[in-house]
Amino acid sequence: MTNKKEFIVFGSPLIEQEEINEVVSCLKSGWLGTGPKVTEFENNFLDYKKGNYVAALNSCTAALHLSLKTLDLKPGDEVITTAMTFCATVNAIIHSGATPVLADVEFDSMNINPTEIKNKITSNTKAILIVHFAGRPCNMDAIMDIAKEYNLKVIEDCAHAIETTYKNKNAGTFGDFGCFSFYVTKNITTGEGGMVIAREKKDIDRIKILGLHGMSKDAWKRFGDEGYKHYYVVEAGFKYNMMDIQAAIGIHQLKRIDSNWQKRQEIWQQYKEAFRNLPIILPADPETNTKHAYHLFTILIDEQRAGISRDDFLKKINLDGIGVGVHYLSIPEHPFYQKTYKWLPENYPNSYKIGRQTVSLPLSPKLTQEQINRVIVSVCNIFSRK
Ligand SMILES: *Cc1c(COP(=O)(O)O)cnc(C)c1O
Repeated sequence: MTNKKEFIVFGSPLIEQEEINEVVSCLKSGWLGTGPKVTEFENNFLDYKKGNYVAALNSCTAALHLSLKTLDLKPGDEVITTAMTFCATVNAIIHSGATPVLADVEFDSMNINPTEIKNKITSNTKAILIVHFAGRPCNMDAIMDIAKEYNLKVIEDCAHAIETTYKNKNAGTFGDFGCFSFYVTKNITTGEGGMVIAREKKDIDRIKILGLHGMSKDAWKRFGDEGYKHYYVVEAGFKYNMMDIQAAIGIHQLKRIDSNWQKRQEIWQQYKEAFRNLPIILPADPETNTKHAYHLFTILIDEQRAGISRDDFLKKINLDGIGVGVHYLSIPEHPFYQKTYKWLPENYPNSYKIGRQTVSLPLSPKLTQEQINRVIVSVCNIFSRK
């Protein structure tokens, strides 16, 4: 048994010298706030995703919120989303003034089930907010067909899915909006940060205004060298802008996106091979004609079959010095949503089951082969120890 060595922090980011140098140069430049580095990062990101229009923000949550704000939803309007996601997805709908409606996922893909979406559509439905879970693309053909048939807006929560493609089209460019996260544990990090890609220029213009207090365009330039510029508040906005310090990190993270993806793919394959005879469910292989972003490697632990509960597994692997994640308890498990929307976990059986059984293993490109081996030995031992 490997002894307890240094703790492997779940989702620890791989930060290299280029990021450090760029942040230092940003600090020395004296321009820390939204400025030229944000513009550079936006342009590079748009190039990479081949989208139409882009705006950097300070989180994916902000990107989701502002995308929904542009829909001008009214009380009673409904937005359908998945029961297997991070709470921010659902909260963004609530803060946009609409009512969230949950659809269950497919057990194998962990992605929203198009049939369930269809079952939840009413005359109040205005949009569908999907999540490409763990980096695996949703069934976009079916989802876009439904959106077209019922005239619904589509927002893609791409927090896990920067590299994801479906039939050679990039995740985040199918719908009206694609929202990305650069939180510490995500495939690209800026510490905190987010990006939204929009199909329509008018939407991104409005998002840029809403993201900076509702002040008229390019208000951040008011302290520049082009002479003082007055700004006018045209809408009650938010404080969601990205800083140049954040973009300084992101610019170099983006340059390494393919090599880091490659590293995570290799770790993924090592896990698949090492765990194939264990009494657990491993993530399904990526579907043909798709690219999986390999954001999460999730195992499912059914206590009956594995001889150990998920929560006992969490304790044991932690004692071996390995940090893991749970993505996620299903949304209806949380008291606020139960109280407010009367949601019952049992009504979303696949999400419920996944939420009770899932564990995400370390998948950071920063992991050394020795650390990967430690994870493999620890997981194998826990299931043979029982
Ligand atoms: C991380 C995450 C978010 C929120 O991203 P932030 O950048 O932290 O706001 C939203 N949705 C999903 C699915 C996520 O994993």
